[in-house]
Amino acid sequence: AKFLGRNNAQFYSPSLTHEAMRRLNMESDLRRALEAQEFFLVYQPQVDLQTGKIHSVEALIRWRHPQQGLISPAEFIPLAEGNGLIVPIGEWVLRMACQDAARWQAMGLPLAMAVNLSPVQFRNGSLTRKVRDILEDTGLGAEFLELEITETTLMDESMTTLQTLHELQELGVKFSLDDFGTGYSSMSYLTRLPLHNLKVDRSFVHGLPHDAGSLAIIRAIISLSESMGFTVTAEGVENLEQVKILMQQCCHTLQGYYFSKPVAAEQIPDLLGQNWDF
Ligand code: C2E
Ligand code: CA
Ligand code: CA
Ligand code: CA
Repeated sequence: AKFLGRNNAQFYSPSLTHEAMRRLNMESDLRRALEAQEFFLVYQPQVDLQTGKIHSVEALIRWRHPQQGLISPAEFIPLAEGNGLIVPIGEWVLRMACQDAARWQAMGLPLAMAVNLSPVQFRNGSLTRKVRDILEDTGLGAEFLELEITETTLMDESMTTLQTLHELQELGVKFSLDDFGTGYSSMSYLTRLPLHNLKVDRSFVHGLPHDAGSLAIIRAIISLSESMGFTVTAEGVENLEQVKILMQQCCHTLQGYYFSKPVAAEQIPDLLGQNWDF
């Protein structure tokens, strides 16, 4: 095979589609993005239906690429998981999010902070130590940190993952199971692991209020959660009809564009005073 430099390859190689090339370039750009400070966090409120107030926010990462502009995490997180960069990136997310939460607390705003964790971060081994250090450095109480994990993490039977889940539980952080209902069919892990909250995937919320199947699934998830002592969050709530039907079903927490899109940290204190229409 001919040796071709990166730019030449883009021009000469007919086997690399434009999309494949874009991904390759993105992966090498990802390697320097953290140092170049191209990532930032936005926060999306989670509203407690009992009080009608925001009681927590979810941290969501954004990448401002110098040439390509904003790139969705749905695109670059899988790449970062593939090459291991999710470990330093995920640690940066945790630290920034805990810092912001601690700052809000110092302002008298006791918001809990939800942070997404990749299964790859659990396999790495040093996650407990990192979380403990970050809580210590930022001064955030462990009870204010909620880690959003997926079924893929819970299905990972490796000792490292299981041990880390239990160590983190002992630290006092909470676990929320994200995208619930979209993953594996076995639910036996629900009884074995230290969960606090289930997040109904937004694909089910999207069907409301008209799709009977979506409603049936949501009711089943809520009833399952009640009997297991979990709270339930519905994500992707976009309109008032969805709010009403989820209230009727006694869902605990709502999140979605109806309340707020993910916003910059500076905007969160203003949102806290807001009264929602429902
Ligand atoms: P997710 O954890 O399921 O996050 C919810 C996604 O739904 C977010 O997309 C959010 O902006 C979007 N969303 C919120 N409300 C609505 C709504 O009402 N309607 C619709 N259609 N969408 C809504 P985003 O921020 O693009 O993130 C996509 C995924 O990327 C996340 O899905 C999560 O899996 C991953 N992700 C984001 N930040 C991180 C991170 O810091 N670490 C890790 N490991 N993954 C992250
Ligand atoms: Ca999430
Ligand atoms: Ca989700
Ligand atoms: Ca998702």
